[in-house]
Amino acid sequence: MDATRLSDDDMTSAVVRARALVIIEDDAPIRRALRHALSAVTDRLLEAPTGREGIDITATERPDLVILDLGLPDCRGVDVCHEIRSWSRVPILVLSARHSDAEKVQLLNAGADDYVTKPFSTPEFVARVRALLRRARLPTADDVATVVEGYGLTIDLLHRRVTRGGTPIRLTPIEWDILRTLVTNAGRTLTHQQIFDAVWGDAAGNPQQYLRVHITNLRRKVEANAARPELIVTEPGVGYRAELPA
Ligand code: CA
Repeated sequence: MDATRLSDDDMTSAVVRARALVIIEDDAPIRRALRHALSAVTDRLLEAPTGREGIDITATERPDLVILDLGLPDCRGVDVCHEIRSWSRVPILVLSARHSDAEKVQLLNAGADDYVTKPFSTPEFVARVRALLRRARLPTADDVATVVEGYGLTIDLLHRRVTRGGTPIRLTPIEWDILRTLVTNAGRTLTHQQIFDAVWGDAAGNPQQYLRVHITNLRRKVEANAARPELIVTEPGVGYRAELPA
């Protein structure tokens, strides 16, 4: 796997370091501030002042993470995100002056992994970078553990079985597909559209409305307290995220 190349020491240490990072940002003072903030995270920080250069550097250098500013002189940040995501799974952290819920949804649908709103504090920014690097080392959706446990539940992804304390929980095929989609992307917010596409394929419909009904039913079955869900968390206006215990 190319996404991260970290030493065994890094693997066991709480301090995550990256081989190379790319910053795509036209504003030189902000690039300088980010370079300073990230000096503890990597020795190799590549900078691109335009979207086109950022795409080229990402393609040739295969960094561990891309930091992408949305306000670029030559193209829309969301298009840069789409382009990189069409051939790479590298984590993409988006920087923006402001985010409406609609923008967050658009970015996540375009393949961004997380977003930070300017102005941001350096410690928070570095923490988000490290969280993405850490997550990139975890198994991907393709090779995730086949049995997931948490909150008293055992979710057997291979045999499509969910049990609580050994007692089977009956899910409809749609509920199962939603649960599997969320759990195999645990820790990551998926938009309504992303979940809808994964579960219903090309079907037409209002993803948010469809999901609201099924998530309510699913929570009633799998959450200890459906009114205070722990496993399936709502990201208001954006989508849902599965949270597994550490
Ligand atoms: Ca900018």
